[in-house]
Amino acid sequence: MKNKTSLMVLPGIADVHVHLRVPGGEHKENYHTGSAAALAGGITTLMGMPNTAPPIITMETWQTAQKKANNESLCDVALFAGASITCMGELPELGRHAIALKLYMDLTYGELRVDGLDNLARIAQLWPREKVLALHAEGDSVKTGIDLAAKYHRRVHFCHISRKEEIEWISDAKKQGLSVTCEVTPHHLFLNEGDAKCLGSLGDMRPRLAKQSDVDALWEHINSTIDCVASDHAPHTLAEKQNSENPPPGVPGLESTLPLLLTAAAEGRLSYERLIILLAVNPRRIYGLPEQPDTWVEVDPQASYIFPDHELYTKCGWSPFSGFPVKGRIRKVVLRGKEVVKDGIVHQYIR
Ligand SMILES: [Zn+2]
Repeated sequence: MKNKTSLMVLPGIADVHVHLRVPGGEHKENYHTGSAAALAGGITTLMGMPNTAPPIITMETWQTAQKKANNESLCDVALFAGASITCMGELPELGRHAIALKLYMDLTYGELRVDGLDNLARIAQLWPREKVLALHAEGDSVKTGIDLAAKYHRRVHFCHISRKEEIEWISDAKKQGLSVTCEVTPHHLFLNEGDAKCLGSLGDMRPRLAKQSDVDALWEHINSTIDCVASDHAPHTLAEKQNSENPPPGVPGLESTLPLLLTAAAEGRLSYERLIILLAVNPRRIYGLPEQPDTWVEVDPQASYIFPDHELYTKCGWSPFSGFPVKGRIRKVVLRGKEVVKDGIVHQYIR
């Protein structure tokens, strides 16, 4: 894995949980800025979430957004479709085209919230068996999601699992042979509720930051139950975060995910082999993402610095991890044989 200049070569990373804010939130992020931030963070494939304005819940909105993403993105982007009680009839057609379905069981407003067991059951049956049903589920909703996987014999992926009991339920479900997978975010691995107090609105997201005992539980499952790490990159402007009465939850993460995981590997908290499985191998396997030939990321695993080491590409321009000492610098990213990033510069980016 190491070449002669002691750089380490990783496969292109796939981030399966990203909010690109198109359509409707382009002042926070767009496909160009979001994909540039991804590349700067060593991410060559990303999956975009459907909670936009309007939400991506019909074939027409999905098609328009995916076309725009293909035209404007600097890396590969696959868009989720969102499950909505108001648009159930769209699911068969969306199921033929969208990479996966996102279903919000908790804490989301408007058309994307799905509750009621009947509705969940209908969606679980309407969505193609070979494609993933990705759940935003917290607390007891995780149990309901496990029941869905069991009852309908279908693949269920849990987004941003953050609590001890949740990861233990998923561990048990896997032991029973159910087809469940899960992701955790870097902020739930590296921050706790104490950090949330210090960061204020800049440390507020859903699920909220948890107790240190929850953080410890996630690390205990990092080599077993946890299938992948995804950023849940959810940018908002500093003004929205700091100057509004009800700051919106969510923090950016595309540019900090790999440096943080490399730091954990340098500290011996996980192996570099496991890092590759969590960030590249499993995300591609779970969602059936296409391979990217001649694509790799060169990192210097020994380089220590204070994050960030470049002006951030995400349009929101801030990070909850600013000032974090990290170890592991991205030197170069090559996508399909072409150098796209060198020492913090994304070549095709237009400011
Ligand atoms: Zn999210």
